[in-house]
Amino acid sequence: MKSIAVIISKGPSNNPVKRKIEADVAVWVAADPRFELVVAPNLYDLKAEGEGVSKLKAFDGDMIILTWMYSRAAHWMLNRAGIAGQEGQSLLTYGDDEDQEEPNSEEDEKPRVIDELALPQRRIYCIDLRASQNPEEFLKEVQRIGEECHADGSDLVSWLAGKPTQESMKRFLNPENDTAVGAVAPANQITEDTSRRWYPVIDFSRCTNCMECIDFCLFGVYGVNGQETILVEQPDNCRKGCPACSRVCPENAIIFPQHKTPAIAGAAVAVDGLKIDLSRLFGAPDSKEDAVDVAARERDEQLLLAGREAVGKSQGIPKRQEDKDLAPKDALDDLLDELDDLDL
Ligand code: SF4
Ligand code: SF4
Repeated sequence: MKSIAVIISKGPSNNPVKRKIEADVAVWVAADPRFELVVAPNLYDLKAEGEGVSKLKAFDGDMIILTWMYSRAAHWMLNRAGIAGQEGQSLLTYGDDEDQEEPNSEEDEKPRVIDELALPQRRIYCIDLRASQNPEEFLKEVQRIGEECHADGSDLVSWLAGKPTQESMKRFLNPENDTAVGAVAPANQITEDTSRRWYPVIDFSRCTNCMECIDFCLFGVYGVNGQETILVEQPDNCRKGCPACSRVCPENAIIFPQHKTPAIAGAAVAVDGLKIDLSRLFGAPDSKEDAVDVAARERDEQLLLAGREAVGKSQGIPKRQEDKDLAPKDALDDLLDELDDLDL
């Protein structure tokens, strides 16, 4: 029976409530012979060339990833690390993820970077561990996905028909010999030392390769590959805590998974021109600054901290957003102004 890899990514802090949920889910998953459990440090913090990423790359089948971040953020963070596949849909969602909005038809016409990516056929399901406080719910969803993955009539059906392989039988009868919790198979433990990292993750299902981020960032984080496609080339050049470029990306394609603002951390938001206004609503609720103003101010703060000159809005401000600043306000802007004025 080919197992489905289930990766539990530990939260970056030592919050005991989170640790308990991770451990409870791990106990149940480890006892189910259909799954191969891997317990890892916070996946976002793994080094690109480290032991953790290379272990995860060794799994080439369907995967279920449980992390403390939005599923969109987790999916594209893994893609960036070379762990790619089709996006599997979990029914257990957190926050706005259940309200995914369909892009409008005009947006549909824009070519996206994902159209050029040769993604493997295997499915990667990302589940946000904030979706429930009941570990059993995660087990049920993992089991449901397991059945979905095997619905092609392969291993699970033969198992249910009473024809498990010898290896599966051995694991089922003696789960503690194999992947029981506290004793996850050593090969499946990722023990890499990690420290907190901070870098942008690009959602290529939204990115149009417009290059506005590369113009805006003055710290050399972005680059292009051989096909002239945008990439995060020097992630560790990014300035800790600063999400400035995510505010100027016209497609809301830049995610900082650890940011406290949902729209920046990868929560589902509209894909069209609403984005700038949404990040204004979410990103600077206490001020009247719009997204571009906030981004320019945040970038200046980082330039000064790095001992460089502030540049304000004189460099790398996307033209279309300057136009947007000058454009007359529409009804939506008025509505958002009113929401800004409410003490939410
Ligand atoms: S600004 Fe956004 S859409 Fe444009 S290339 Fe960068 S990530 Fe992609
Ligand atoms: S947050 Fe700032 S430093 Fe980091 S990639 Fe964006 S613009 Fe560059």
